[in-house]
Formats: sequence, C-alpha cells, structure tokens
Amino acid sequence: MRKLELLVVDDETDFAEFVADVAKDAGFRVLSTDDPAEFFELYSSETNIVVLDLFMPGIDGIELIRHLADKNSKAALILMSGKSESVLHAAQALAEELNINVLATLQKPILPDELENAFSMYAPEQSSRYVAGVDDMPSAHELRQAIDRDELFLVFQPQVSIADRSLRGFEALLRWKHPDKGMISPGYFIPLAEENDLIADISTYTDKSAVEQLGIWQRGGLNTRISINMSPLILTDLELPEQLTTQAKEHGVDPSNITIEVTETAATVNIAQYIDILTRLRMKGFGLSIDDFGTGFSSLQQLVRVPFSELKVDIVFIKKLLVDNECRSITEISIMLAHKLGMAVVAEGVEDEATFELLGELGCDKGQGYWIGRPMPAEEIESWRSSWDH
Ligand code: C2E
Ligand code: MG
Ligand code: MG
Repeated sequence: MRKLELLVVDDETDFAEFVADVAKDAGFRVLSTDDPAEFFELYSSETNIVVLDLFMPGIDGIELIRHLADKNSKAALILMSGKSESVLHAAQALAEELNINVLATLQKPILPDELENAFSMYAPEQSSRYVAGVDDMPSAHELRQAIDRDELFLVFQPQVSIADRSLRGFEALLRWKHPDKGMISPGYFIPLAEENDLIADISTYTDKSAVEQLGIWQRGGLNTRISINMSPLILTDLELPEQLTTQAKEHGVDPSNITIEVTETAATVNIAQYIDILTRLRMKGFGLSIDDFGTGFSSLQQLVRVPFSELKVDIVFIKKLLVDNECRSITEISIMLAHKLGMAVVAEGVEDEATFELLGELGCDKGQGYWIGRPMPAEEIESWRSSWDH
C-alpha cells in the first residue's frame, strides 16, 4: 500500500526536522521544508496531511490555508504556533469555514505524543471534501408527510447533577426515521421545517409528546423533569403560555418540572413578542433555558431581557474543556455569570469522565452528554438508570 504523504512547513529548521522524524516513525512519506516559498513546489494533490507553522517570514500560515482552499485541496491540516492560542483558533475556524479538515491545533513546545495523536486523527474519507448530495436529502413535502405518518418521535437524554451524579431530568430530542433514507438529523429537518412553515406542527407534536411522557414517568413514580427545545419562530404565538399550562394540567404535571430551551436567531424579528411569551411562561412556573450559550445569537443581552432560569454552555466549549485554555476560560466565566444571575448551569457534550470531574471543580451544576447517556427511547430509560451508578 502506498504510504500516506505528509508535508511539513516550518521556518524553524530544528522544528521542521523534529516533526519530520516523528512522522517518519509513524510511517509517513515525509516532505519537509524550512522555506515557506518552497511550499508550492512540494505540495501536490497527493499530499494527505500538511503540518503548518502559522507564523513564518514572507508568507504566513493563513495565506497558505487560503491557497490550499483555492487549489481545492483534500489534504488535512495540523496547525502549530509558538505564539497566541487565539490566533491558532482563528486559523482553525478559517480553515474549517473553507472546508479543510483540521486534525489538531498544537501550541509549541510540542511533544512527540501530541503529534502522533494528531496523525492518528487522520481518516481519508473525512478529508475529502464530500458534501452529501442534496438530492439524497428528504424534501419539505416528505417532512409534511412524515408528520402525518408518525415518522417523528422523541428520544430522551439524561441530565445529572455533577455534585452527586443523581438524575435531574431529560432533554427531549426529536428524531425522524425516514422509511427509505433512514435516520435524518434534526440539524437538517428543523431548519427545513422552519423554512417551510412546518415548525408549528412539529412543535405541537414535540410539546404534546414530551409533556405526556413526563406524566407517564411521574405517575410511574419517577419524579423527574423534562426540557423541551423550542424554535424561536414559535415564540410569536401569544397563546402559547396558556396552551402549555393547559397541557401540563391535563397530564397532571407541574409547569415547574418543564423547562423550555431557546436560542435566539437572526430570524427573531419580533423581539417584543419573544420577550412577552417567554416572560409569561416563566411567570406560570416553567423553567427557561438559554441553549447553546456562547455561540450564534445566544448573547449576553438576552440574559438581561429574558428571565432565564438556566444556562446551557455550548458543546463546542465542553468538548475541548480539557485541552484548550480558551474554552476552559469561557466555560468558567459562563458558570460564574450564570450563578451571579441566579441561574443553574448545564454543560452539554460531556463525553468523558475527566471532563465531568473538571466541571465539578469549576462549580457546574448539571451535565449532559454521551458519557452519561445517549439520547434514547423512553423504553430504554430503566436500563440506563440501573447501569448509571451514582
Ligand atoms: P441542542 O438542543 O443543543 O441539543 C444537543 C445536541 O447535542 C443533540 O443533538 C444531542 O444529541 C447532542 N449531544 C448530546 N450529548 C452529546 C455529546 O456528548 N457529544 C456530541 N457530539 N453531541 C451530543 P441532536 O439530537 O441531533 O439535536 C440537534 C439540535 O436540533 C438540537 O440542539 C436542537 O437545537 C434541535 N432540536 C432537536 N429536537 C428538537 C425539537 O423537538 N424541537 C426543536 N425546535 N429543535 C429540536
Ligand atoms: Mg437543547
Ligand atoms: Mg445545545
């Protein structure tokens, strides 16, 4: 089998040699240069991985990233710098925006282990710029049918106390099982619903099923809570607080056991209605959670004008909590901020025990993520509970 090809560009000769040595030991065919100008002679469409120092005289790493994108490069990138971490992050964001797969961002000095780890992240299929054929994805018309044909259903992901690991509730997450195309992600079909006037129907289904499930749990002796995601487009219906209250009553559950998760989006045009509805939900006893905090439109201003009871730190920060100082700082500040404002904090995307432990040290209240439990159908909750020891 042909060896994978790795190209190192670093104006520090010693460093270029060091990376080249580690890569050769790891079984790569290595091309290496300490002259950035030579990059274009060495780079070819055969190059699998480019290891790049961001700060170089003459041409900098950002320019090389742009050139790679212009050449429609399929190579994956490892970015290195001896300087600021924030520049490394910006370079990573730029590369990803240009559809270049970034295997790692490494802060110098770099250990051989860190490099080997980064190499091991390489998977050929991920690096090719494959974009799923739009034709393969279901249409709005199929989504309309899916609602009528009961192809949508809810799964539930546990949230636990970080201090004592006890169960604190579940987030209801929507799934679509397409008869031919299999499982379709809500990341795809929620925006599709929002763009095609289907979000109200979907929301009606989600709210009803989630509240119903909570009623079933509570009558069965599981005294728990549920979090429901709500599209900002729904927050234009002034009757919503009354409707949800009636629904809760019908299923014998107290609104204080239901949390509504929202994010603001660019599409939130009527801010007055948005604040009106959320405030009345809160006054009726529902919990209000600001989802994906720290990204997109989940802003600080929102915290002042909406009476949130909970803040969810976005997955992107939690996933890198152990390895990235900036993500750790943002998480710490989010926790402090939430507590100052009297809100509880949930970390989402907890994928290992070390992250869970560190969140405990940082004072985070609740955790949610694959390490604790994946989103699962209601039938699987019992067996999850018996395997989750606290
Ligand atoms: P979200 O509300 O921020 O939900 C968290 C997402 O992170 C879920 O993806 C969940 O499966 C995923 N997740 C949980 N733990 C981990 C982890 O440890 N690692 C990783 N990598 N991911 C984790 P999902 O279910 O695909 O949902 C995506 C988004 O779709 C949700 O983001 C939410 O914005 C939206 N959504 C889902 N269900 C509904 C719904 O019923 N109504 C509305 N309006 N939006 C929904
Ligand atoms: Mg959510
Ligand atoms: Mg989220």
